[in-house]
Amino acid sequence: MDTKVKNHSHALLPLVVILFSIITLTVSLFLIVDSQSGILDDSLDDDDTARVEFYNISIKAGDNLTKIFKAVGLEEKDVFLLQELGKDGRALQNLKPMQGISISVDTEAKKCLNLSLWLSNEKKLEFIWKDDHYETVVTKQPLKTSLNYASVKVKNSLLEDAITSGISKNLVYQVTEALGWEIDFIKDLRAGDEFELLFKQSYLPGKGFVNDELEELLYTNKKGTLKATKFENSMGLSAFYLPDGQRLSRDFLSSPLKYNRISSPYSISRKHPLLGITRPHHGVDLTAKYGSPIWSTGQGRVVFVGTKSGYGKTVVIQHNYKYKTIYAHMSRFAKDIHKGSKVKQGQVIGYVGTTGITTGPHLHYEFRINNKPVNPMTVKIPRSPSLAKKEIPSFESLLEKNEGIRIQIKHAREED
Ligand SMILES: [Zn+2]
Repeated sequence: MDTKVKNHSHALLPLVVILFSIITLTVSLFLIVDSQSGILDDSLDDDDTARVEFYNISIKAGDNLTKIFKAVGLEEKDVFLLQELGKDGRALQNLKPMQGISISVDTEAKKCLNLSLWLSNEKKLEFIWKDDHYETVVTKQPLKTSLNYASVKVKNSLLEDAITSGISKNLVYQVTEALGWEIDFIKDLRAGDEFELLFKQSYLPGKGFVNDELEELLYTNKKGTLKATKFENSMGLSAFYLPDGQRLSRDFLSSPLKYNRISSPYSISRKHPLLGITRPHHGVDLTAKYGSPIWSTGQGRVVFVGTKSGYGKTVVIQHNYKYKTIYAHMSRFAKDIHKGSKVKQGQVIGYVGTTGITTGPHLHYEFRINNKPVNPMTVKIPRSPSLAKKEIPSFESLLEKNEGIRIQIKHAREED
């Protein structure tokens, strides 16, 4: 299939932003997920008739232990006892959104008998009331995982159709991220295109579903099928690869900001709008709202940050010995951008402005190869390095294994 470099990956951003907002919104909607009450046996309390209630709570932004205790009918004195327990107590002072807590409450004594805080998906910190104080225990519970398969044919939008097919939003997000350089999800998808996904589902016994992780995808359109497989190399780094071992991702993003339009393209000779003289335009001018964030298109090191006459406030990033990108006319620089600082791909380095010689707010963006300017919108950016030769055998056996599992699950479903 066609795997040419596309020039409009910014069109993908709104989709990703929407996905994120939906996920965040869903999470923040529930505080108390589940509560049950019952009579416990006397191992927890000497009084056989003690009423004990259990609460499972998902932390949301702004929650603290005092607030939670109030919501489950507990008094503040236990908050102090718990939070004073050194390092373990500090974990309760710094609750993080999406963390899970479960609490057993003696409703007569208004006493917290047991509090479990999930430090991670697999690690639980438990506070147990013993006579006159709390004791803490950390337990690790390994995740249970299973491979699963799902397919979806595009009818309306990938997200909508995927959800109808029972595929999680998180998994759709991983698909759009993996194929970001290959497909423009707004422009290229057609009704009838099909996605087949092999993914790992993680469960925590007693806590339920934890996560979906994309392992392999097949995207089929009229032109053919693109297959991408996640593989962890011997260094422990995992990425998606095509069947021939080529890596799916690129070292550069196709755009340094969410822009409205190209106000001035790259050209070898153009008449300067303000200076009136003909000279080359070594970059592209991308208009955007004053103050819009600008991000580094690749990982690298800042080699210049400051004012360059006509360029105004400018950042120059060296990506390796060969590639350099230049960002000009900024209104201001991001806080942690200094000469010599390391930047990650997608890290915000500054904000759109009008410094230097400009007719309005825009970003002047240059891409240089061996210090020679090239057109940033059409430059053929190579794929990130392919798999090393020594990794190929284990990659090929993974491809075979995935194929086997996919066929097995498909057959099992057809027989149903
Ligand atoms: Zn320019």
